[in-house]
Amino acid sequence: MINTASTPPKPQSYKTNVEIDWCPGCGDFGILNSLVLALQELKIPNENVVLTGGIGCSSKIPHYVNVNTLHTLHGRSLVQAQAVKMANPRLEVISASGDGDGLGIGSAHFVAAGRRNVDMTYILFDNGVYGLTKGQASPTLPYGEMPKSIETENIKFPVNPLFLGLASGFTFVSRSYSYNIKHLKETLIRAMKHRGLSLVDVMQPCVTYNNINTKEFYDPRLYDIEKEGWNPVASNENEYKQKVPQAVLKSLEWGDKIPMGVFLDYQTETYDQKLQKLVPDYGKKNYVMDPIHSNGKPLNDVTDLMNSFC
Ligand code: SF4
Repeated sequence: MINTASTPPKPQSYKTNVEIDWCPGCGDFGILNSLVLALQELKIPNENVVLTGGIGCSSKIPHYVNVNTLHTLHGRSLVQAQAVKMANPRLEVISASGDGDGLGIGSAHFVAAGRRNVDMTYILFDNGVYGLTKGQASPTLPYGEMPKSIETENIKFPVNPLFLGLASGFTFVSRSYSYNIKHLKETLIRAMKHRGLSLVDVMQPCVTYNNINTKEFYDPRLYDIEKEGWNPVASNENEYKQKVPQAVLKSLEWGDKIPMGVFLDYQTETYDQKLQKLVPDYGKKNYVMDPIHSNGKPLNDVTDLMNSFC
C-alpha cells in the first residue's frame, strides 16, 4: 500500500548531504539513483519511508537517502524492516543489503521473511564479493570463478537468490541491473506497489574487486524475459503452483544469456492480513502514530494486544 503526497517531493529532497564513499563507477550508484527516482515517481513523502541496511558497501545506502533510516547489524536488515512494518503498517518499508550480508549471515532471515510475506521490498545488491572487506568470495559468486581479489577459484556452489526467493515464499521475485536505471526504477516501482514481500535482485558490478562480473560481462548477456513473452503473474493458487517451478527453471539460466525482469508476481494474503484475523486490534489502531494519552489519561488499553503475543 502506497501513501502518496499531494505535492510530489523533488528528487533532490530524497538525497542527503552525506559524502558518498563508494568507489567511482560502483554499481551501487545506479541503485541509489533508481531508488530515488522510484520514490519520487510514486510521490511518497520522505517521512513515510523507512530504509534499513545491514553491513557492507551496499548497506551504507541508508546514509544517502533522506528518509527514516536504520543502519543495522550484519545480516539483520530484513529483520529490522519487518519489525518496522509490523509496528506501523502505514509506512513504506524498504530493506537493502548485499549478497554477502543477506545470503551469508542473513540467509536464515531471508528464508524466514519469505515464509511470512510481510508487505515490503527487499533490494539485494548482488556483486559476488564482500566488497567492504577486500573482495572475498560471497554466496553468489559462481562456482569455479576467480576474481582478482581471491587467490584460488571458488570451490563452493553459489546461492541463486531468485531460486531461494521462490522456494522461500517471496510473492514478487525479480532481477534488474544497476547500469540500466530505467529498468531498475520500473522494477522498484512494481516491487513497492506489490502487496506482499518483494525481492529485487540487482546485478551490481563491484569495479574494484570483481573483474569478471563487470559491465562488459553483463551488457551483452542480460535480456528482459518479459519482452520475450514471459508472464510473471499468478492469479490464483493453482497458477502459483504452476508458475513457481517454471520461474525456478528460468532463474537457473546463466551463461551467454542471463534473464532479468519480473519472474513472479503473486497476490496472496500478507502476514499482516493473517495477523488481523488473530489479533482483533491489529491494523485498526496504530500504537506508533496515534496519540497515546489525553490530559495524562491513556487512550488505548493494550492489555489484550500484549496478551495475544504471549
Ligand atoms: Fe562498490 Fe566494490 Fe567499491 Fe564496494 S568495493 S564500493 S562494492 S566497487
